Amino acid sequence: MARESLLEECIDFAQRLIRTPSMPGEEAAIAALVGEELRKLGYDEVWSDAAGNVFGRVYGRDRSLPALVLNTHLDHVDPGDPSLWPTPPFAAEIRDGRIIGRGASDIKGPMAVQVYSPVALLRAGERPRRDMVFCGVVQEEVGGAGAIYWAEHLDYPVELVVLGEPSSNTLALGHRGIVQFWLTFHGRSAHASAPERAENPNYALAAFLSQLQAAAAGLGVHPVLGPTTVAPTIIEVDTTSTNVTPAWARVLLDFRTSAESPNSLRAFIDRLAGDSPHSLTYSDGFEPASVSASDEIVTGFYLSPGDPLVIRAQAALGRGMGREPELARYRFATDGRHFAPYGIPVVGFAPGEEEMAHTAGESIAIDQMEESLQGHAQLLREF
Ligand SMILES: [Zn+2]
Repeated sequence: MARESLLEECIDFAQRLIRTPSMPGEEAAIAALVGEELRKLGYDEVWSDAAGNVFGRVYGRDRSLPALVLNTHLDHVDPGDPSLWPTPPFAAEIRDGRIIGRGASDIKGPMAVQVYSPVALLRAGERPRRDMVFCGVVQEEVGGAGAIYWAEHLDYPVELVVLGEPSSNTLALGHRGIVQFWLTFHGRSAHASAPERAENPNYALAAFLSQLQAAAAGLGVHPVLGPTTVAPTIIEVDTTSTNVTPAWARVLLDFRTSAESPNSLRAFIDRLAGDSPHSLTYSDGFEPASVSASDEIVTGFYLSPGDPLVIRAQAALGRGMGREPELARYRFATDGRHFAPYGIPVVGFAPGEEEMAHTAGESIAIDQMEESLQGHAQLLREF
């Protein structure tokens, strides 16, 4: 009975979150709504920071233990053409046991569950084992400025961050890292009427690309995070004239890394480029921040299945849900990659299907929210 009314309140909050649009950079209204809810629910402290992030803390039974942090982002991607949606994207209508709306699974359904996770305990006069901090951050969808600001200014010890990206209530142990290089082939430009005077870098680029797809199959594979992949995305040359051969031609290589280091990627590229004069630079903002040395493997974040934090979290969630959560990984990148460089351990656990994120008609199953709420409550009790 108590649980049902708690679930109803949690659903109502998820709907209010969806009805408060919060594109990146426009999170003030939703941060205020979350702050108000945290106060109403009896969090011991509620505050915000200069980045616009919003926080709530519930004191634990043992306040000397490092905190358990539940993290979600406050923003969402553009809903796109509303006519492609079965219901208006910010209406948060419920159909067939699912809440429909932009952000339903990524990330407002999970956020509602995180915010409500201590409420069953508080109403029963219980406390979490350790301090629990809800941490809602801005601008995840555009690079993670809010998460980076939080990690940089963190002034209390953290045992574990539970990331609320949709995982269908599986326990996500990590995801791959992102490394982007510009690979530039250098040549000599000439009048297009006299190609014999040129060193045309388009040929070297073409030779490189013709081998890339097959060679990529040899990139390192991680037993949990899966294969490292590469996608050539943008191609550019220095000239805009149709009758000049370029002095250089470059391609952007987007690597998703699970078992490769900056140095091993450079060696992979150099081998394929062969003797053709070439150079490599990182694309802006995609230098691998997660590693300190160039021989270190780049991942987004990762905890191994045997890590004591994973074993404890899995057991607690399992007792709460009545079934042990499967171990899994995220396909996409998350704010978790900004915490790992600070040595803050991260796992992902949330309701909502990963493949719903960023789609028209995005929705979340209320059943999953209920199960997740039970898992979270037990996590707070015993972790
Ligand atoms: Zn997300």
